[in-house]
Amino acid sequence: MNIRLFNTMSRKIEEFKPLVPGHVGMYSCGPTVYHYAHIGNLRSFVLADLLKRMFIENGYAVTSVMNITDVGHLTSDDDDSGEDKMEKGAARDNKSVWDIAKFYTDEFLRDSHDMNLMEPTYRPRATDYIHEQIELVRKLEEMGYTYEIPGDGIYYDTSKFANYGALTGGALAGNRAGARVEFNDAKRNPTDFALWKFSPTDKKRQMEWDSPWGVGFPGWHAECSAMSMALLGNHFDIHTGGIDLSRVHHANEIAQSEPITGAPWVNYWVHSEFLVDKSGEKMSKSKGEFLALNVLKDRGFDPMAYRYMLLLGHYQSQLAFSWDALDAAANGYKNIVRRVADIMTSATNDVDPIAFDTWHDKILGPMSDNMKTAETLVQVQELLRDDAVNPATKIALFEFIDRLLGLQFVDRANKLRELENVAVPAEVQALADARTAAKAEKDWTRADALRAQIDSAGWMILDTKDGAKLIKKS
Ligand code: AMP
Ligand code: ZN
Repeated sequence: MNIRLFNTMSRKIEEFKPLVPGHVGMYSCGPTVYHYAHIGNLRSFVLADLLKRMFIENGYAVTSVMNITDVGHLTSDDDDSGEDKMEKGAARDNKSVWDIAKFYTDEFLRDSHDMNLMEPTYRPRATDYIHEQIELVRKLEEMGYTYEIPGDGIYYDTSKFANYGALTGGALAGNRAGARVEFNDAKRNPTDFALWKFSPTDKKRQMEWDSPWGVGFPGWHAECSAMSMALLGNHFDIHTGGIDLSRVHHANEIAQSEPITGAPWVNYWVHSEFLVDKSGEKMSKSKGEFLALNVLKDRGFDPMAYRYMLLLGHYQSQLAFSWDALDAAANGYKNIVRRVADIMTSATNDVDPIAFDTWHDKILGPMSDNMKTAETLVQVQELLRDDAVNPATKIALFEFIDRLLGLQFVDRANKLRELENVAVPAEVQALADARTAAKAEKDWTRADALRAQIDSAGWMILDTKDGAKLIKKS
C-alpha cells in the first residue's frame, strides 16, 4: 500500500520512499527524565508508536530509536541558559541526579507499557553516549563550525550553516531565540547554541565528564545527532518529535549533523501537534494541573481510553484535553470492547479470507494516508455494523486492528468476558433475585437499596432485555 506522510521539511504530504527497500529507520526524541511524563508528552510518543505499527502492518522491517534524555537539558532550551533540568529535578526530589534519572526512566517505562507503546529497537540514554557526543563536537570543531565562549562552553556558529532553520521556514528569521528571551551577549548569533558546556568553577556538578575542552557536559541537542548516527547510520528515513522541537532542537540537530553526514540527513520530519487545555494552552510540566498518566488511572480511566481519545484527533491538529472529552472517549472505547466481547461468544472458526482482505485494506488505508486515525476508527465502527462479515472474521480483523492501533480491544474484551464468567456467589444472586422481586412490586426504594448492597459486594447489576445480569467489577 502507498504510504503518505506530511513532511515538516517540505510542508507537504509526500509519498514515502524508503532509503532501503522494505526497511524504515526512525528516530524519536524521547522524554527528559527529570519528572513524570505528562499526557501531552505521551501524545508525541503515541505518534511514534503508531508510525511504527503502520509501517510494520505494511510489511516493513522497522528499526526504531527513542532516546532517554538524562543530561544537559537546560530550563531555557532556546539560548542554553537557566538551570539544568536534571539537577533541578534532583534538588526538588532531594535525590541524586542519577537516582532521579533512574526513577523517572522507570516511571516512563511503566507509562509506555500502560499506553501499549511498542518497545523501540533501541532506547539509548544520553549519558551512555558521551564519547560519541564529544566526537561529534570534535568533528564540527575541525570543520570550523565552533567557537569557544570562555567560562561558558563550546558553541555552534549557525551563520556557517547556510540552511539553518529550514525546517521552520528557513534562514535565521523567526528563529531568533534572543528576541524572546534575554540572550547570551557573547554569542556570535542569537541562534548559536551550546555543543559543550563547561562545569562551573565554584561548584561540582553531579554529572560531568572530561573532554578536550575541559570538564563539563554536552549541550542537549548533541545527543540526538550522535545517537541517531550511531544507531541508524548517517542517513535515515524518519525523525519524530513534538512540534515545539522543530524550531530549535531539530534545527540544531540538522545543523550539527549535516556538515558531517551530508544533506539530507533525515528524509521525513514528522511532528505531532500539542495536547492543549481547555483555554488552548499547551500542556506542560510547569503550568496548570500536572496530568501524568497516573492521575488518569487514579480517576479510574483505562490508559487505553486515553489512547483512544488521542486517535480521535489527527496528529497535525491540536487536541484539547478535558475530563469530559476523556469520559466520552472512555465510553466510546468501552462500547467497542463490549461489542467485541459479544462477537467473541459467537465466533466460529471460519475466517472469510475475502472479507478479511477487504476490511484489512479499508482499515489500513486511512492510517497509511498520513495517519488518519479518526478515519480508521470510523472504518472500525463500520466493520462492527457490517452484518455480512461473520464473527470469526471480525475477531481476526480486531486482532489486526490491535496490532495496527495498539488499542487492546481483544485483550479488554477477553477480560470483560472473564469477569462476566466468574461464578456469582449465592448471596449476591439472592440479592439480585430479591431486587427483581422488588422491581416487580414497583418497590423502587427497596430495589435501589438492594442494588447498593450488590455494589458493595463488588458486583454490578445490568438490566438487559434478557433480565438482570450480574457482572463482577474489575
Ligand atoms: P520532554 O520530556 O520535555 O523532552 O518532551 C518530550 C516530548 O513531548 C517532546 O517531543 C515534546 O515536543 C513533546 N511535548 C511536550 N509538550 C507537549 C504537549 N503539550 N503536547 C504534545 N507533545 C508535547
Ligand atoms: Zn531530540
